[in-house]
Formats: sequence, structure tokens, C-alpha cells
Amino acid sequence: MSINVTRSSMPSYEEYCEEIKELWDSRWLTNMGKKHKQLEADLKDYLSTPNITLYTNGHLALEGAIESMGFERGKEVITTPFTFASTTHAIARCGLVPVFCDINSVDYTIDVDKIEALITENTVAIVPVHVYGNMCDVEKIEQIAKKHSLKVIYDSAHAFGVKYKGISSANFGDVSMFSFHATKVFNTIEGGAVTYKDSSLASVLDDLKNFGLHTPEEGKYIAGNAKMNEFQAAMGICNLRHINEEIAKRGQAVSRYRERLSGAEGIILCPEQKDVLPNYAYFPVVFDGYKYTRDEIFDKLKPHDIIARKYFYPLINGFDCYKDLETAGEDKTPVAKHIAQRVLTLPLFADLTEEIVDRICDIILE
Ligand SMILES: *Cc1c(COP(=O)(O)O)cnc(C)c1O
Repeated sequence: MSINVTRSSMPSYEEYCEEIKELWDSRWLTNMGKKHKQLEADLKDYLSTPNITLYTNGHLALEGAIESMGFERGKEVITTPFTFASTTHAIARCGLVPVFCDINSVDYTIDVDKIEALITENTVAIVPVHVYGNMCDVEKIEQIAKKHSLKVIYDSAHAFGVKYKGISSANFGDVSMFSFHATKVFNTIEGGAVTYKDSSLASVLDDLKNFGLHTPEEGKYIAGNAKMNEFQAAMGICNLRHINEEIAKRGQAVSRYRERLSGAEGIILCPEQKDVLPNYAYFPVVFDGYKYTRDEIFDKLKPHDIIARKYFYPLINGFDCYKDLETAGEDKTPVAKHIAQRVLTLPLFADLTEEIVDRICDIILE
């Protein structure tokens, strides 16, 4: 059986069937039904957030989050190229101009010392990414945002359940977006959410996922359809019951990886972050001066049916569709470029056994 970079967490077949059974009686399959309401309540509790709006996926949640800020089109948004395409696409699809900032070389989140140089009179927001579940420097970002009156929208797709100084990742910035895609730490098959402090955003975010209709007879915004259905919500309700065990199991796999790989010359692991309760979303390894390159390691694992991922490579600022942007070009973000060429994300999921971690490490270290 092939070992992929990730493997979806699922409840037992019986547990899920029990959860969806009543949908055959209610015949209410989507449009903010009972399961949707319950998952919202459960997640508010788990993420300790005062407000949450569910979406059919993380990408549309991010578009909703950005759109809800009411920015004038053509304004600039500072973000990083070391992320999944979704982050940048959401900014651009909302009619805004992505401005690429480099990352720091320790945890690969946005380099807070390089943000201010990119701020112009057109800048309206920062969209930082808690990449791999590593928390951005939320304090410095808040300070910069306050000073320049910018909004902060976190791409928290990787940071479900992460806490910084005891505060949930859902509570930083103006809004945070979570992805509940099948490959993420917590999944609703496909799914996502926006969390926020300002409860007046609730009605906007609700309307934006439902064609912009405030009531069936009141078209308030031009918007699409991004509602989470009852089957997705039911999967979320089930998965949330087991999330703490799942994260703990991921943690065990990570401990084993660290035991085996730390100290090897030319192998760089992300340090555990201070004051952070991690979720072990990913296990990135940077091969810098190791006896094999990243691509060689990738190729060595493949014949063993072990599929690692070059996350995140290539950088988004090297994408063809962004070549006309003023800050396009990988050379403008040298740290991100350096990491993207050397990083490999190793398989990590709750059911990953110590035996398989050892097999992977044996191949890397041989
Ligand atoms: C997964 C992901 C998204 C998009 O979420 P979907 O639920 O797949 O739409 C956005 N940003 C990052 C960093 C992601 O990893």
C-alpha cells in the first residue's frame, strides 16, 4: 500500500451512518440545517471563538473573509508566496493586488521585518499564513496593522486547534480562515470556516455564501454559493469527537521523526515554537547541504511507494498568472526561494505507525 503525504481522518462507518440517519427523515440536506448549526456550535466551543461561519471549502471561506472587509477594488494586500495557490488566488479574485513579502528562515511564516517596506498608500490588508501550523508573529503583525490602519486576515488553513499563549489561532487578526479539506488535520470532506471577533460580520458572511441574498427577497451583494451541506457537517461533528486523539497520534509520529532525523548534518527541522500548542499538521524537512538534495530524497522514497510532497514548491510569485505583478519573481523573496527548493514535506497522519516513520527515516539516512 502506498504511503501518501497525508491520509484522511475518518470516524467509524457506523458512527457516520448513525449521524446522517435522521437526514432521511428530515429531507433537509443543505441550507444551514440542523447538522450545520450543531457543527457551528461545536466548533465555536472547540476553537474558543465568539463567531464562526461555515463554508463549503476553505478557499471560498477565504474569499468570503476578504470580501467581508469591504475593500475598494485595486487596493494592495501583503502576503507571502510560500503557501498554497489558494491564498494568493483569493486575494486576486476579490479584485485586489497581491504584494509578495518574503518569509523568515526559522518557521517559514511572513518575515515581519520586511512588511513595512512594502506598505504603500494603497495597502489595505495583510494576509499572513500560519504555514505548516506554525503561528505567525501575531503580536508584531498586530502592531504593524494598528500603526498603518490595515486589516489582518489570517490564512489559518493549517492551524486548526493551534494555540499561542493559550489563545486559539481563531482569535487573531480581524478574521481567520480555516480549511476542513480531507487532507487537513480536521476535515468535513471539503469544508472551511471564517472566525472573527466582530459579530456584525456574521450577517455579511452568511449572505456572501448564499448568493448575496439577505432574505429571499433582498439581494444585497453580488455573490456565489458556498454553503456547507449536511453530509459535510455530519462528518465534521463525528471527526471533532476524535480530534484530540488524532492530534496526539500525529504528535507521536512527529516525535519519532524528530528523534531519528535531528542532528543529521544538512537536515533542518522546524524548531518547536515557544508558547505554542501545536497541531502537528505537517512535517517539513529542509535538505540544505545534506549528502542528497531534496529532489534526490523525493526520488529515493518514490520506488518504496512513499509519496512525500514538495510543499511549497514552486513559489506562487513564480506562477505564470502573476507574472505581471510588480512584486512577481521568486528572486524578490530569496528566503522563500531557498526554502522552496530544499523543502520536502514527509508523510504525516494520525495512523502513521512508528514502523513506517522508521522505514522513511532509514531511506533518508542510508
Ligand atoms: C488547503 C488550503 C487552502 C484552501 O482550502 P480548501 O479547503 O482546500 O479550499 C488555503 N490555504 C492554504 C494554506 C491551504 O493549505
